Amino acid sequence: NVAATKPALRLKLCEPRGFCAGVDRAIQIVVLALKKYGAPVYVRHEIVHNKYVVDGLRDMGAVFVKELHEVPDDGQPVVFSAHGVPKSVPARAEARDMFYLDATCPLVSKVHKQGLRHVKLGRHVLLIGHAGHPEVVGTLGQLPEGTVTLIETEEDVSAFEPADPSALGFITQTTLSVDDTAGVVKALQAKFPEMQAPSSESICYATTNRQDAVKVAAPETDLFVVVGAPNSSNSKRLVEVAKRFGARDAMLVENEREIPWESLKTGATIALSAGASAPDILIDAIIAKARENFDVDLEIVQTAEENELFPVMRSLRDVPLTEAD
Ligand code: SF4
Repeated sequence: NVAATKPALRLKLCEPRGFCAGVDRAIQIVVLALKKYGAPVYVRHEIVHNKYVVDGLRDMGAVFVKELHEVPDDGQPVVFSAHGVPKSVPARAEARDMFYLDATCPLVSKVHKQGLRHVKLGRHVLLIGHAGHPEVVGTLGQLPEGTVTLIETEEDVSAFEPADPSALGFITQTTLSVDDTAGVVKALQAKFPEMQAPSSESICYATTNRQDAVKVAAPETDLFVVVGAPNSSNSKRLVEVAKRFGARDAMLVENEREIPWESLKTGATIALSAGASAPDILIDAIIAKARENFDVDLEIVQTAEENELFPVMRSLRDVPLTEAD
């Protein structure tokens, strides 16, 4: 019996994991636009941070560009990514009479509105987030010049000296570490007791739920594997959470080939999760690989149920979908 000779491996699979409603919607927008308008469909920036997804859409006829000036005036649509864009981007597209489809996640748009509301009420906005991340670039660019300051760390809180400490409001990037952000907010509140919170949580449900499942699965795990791209903020946070909550080791991988299978001893425990932009097909490949080499005892660690679904824009709702989509 060959199966009996395989070493034992315990595999904890986090649920929820992987695709969120915002990523799903953004990918659908590109697929439906290709169906309705034909190729090419231009996409400004990676639609979501995942190579597998981006390569798949490229094969279907999507053309990825960094900036709008790379898009020719051929009347074909250009899609803005799920991360959101600065106001200057649609403005430039309109000036050139371009046809654009905005795939910004509704939960990122909500944060934009929260920021604008602070400004309308005369508050200076503190955006908690990571410099250079496309979502942060987009959110900063939604607010009028001089009305927003980026706060990355508690050190930034100490260094920040506003003109009017009584007129401040904060918002955050949607994909931050829930615990680290709570620390930064606490430091801000201690220094600026009159600072106003956004009307509701800026960190999105998908980020929170994926971190919660990792927290439960991490203790006693020999290796915690998070599937995600190296530039995916929410995926990187999952690796940090796994380490902080007791995983002996944790790593971010793009596919099953990056996992050090040979270092796993018999009886080892690994745990698996995936960032919001990683498709389940990559997780399936990891489980298949594990089964090839080990006698796998699979356990689902479920901490929440997700039913969120964000509809695409009206103009694409009449495009018929086939099974393959
Ligand atoms: Fe939207 Fe959250 Fe998904 Fe980002 S991670 S696309 S904010 S649901």
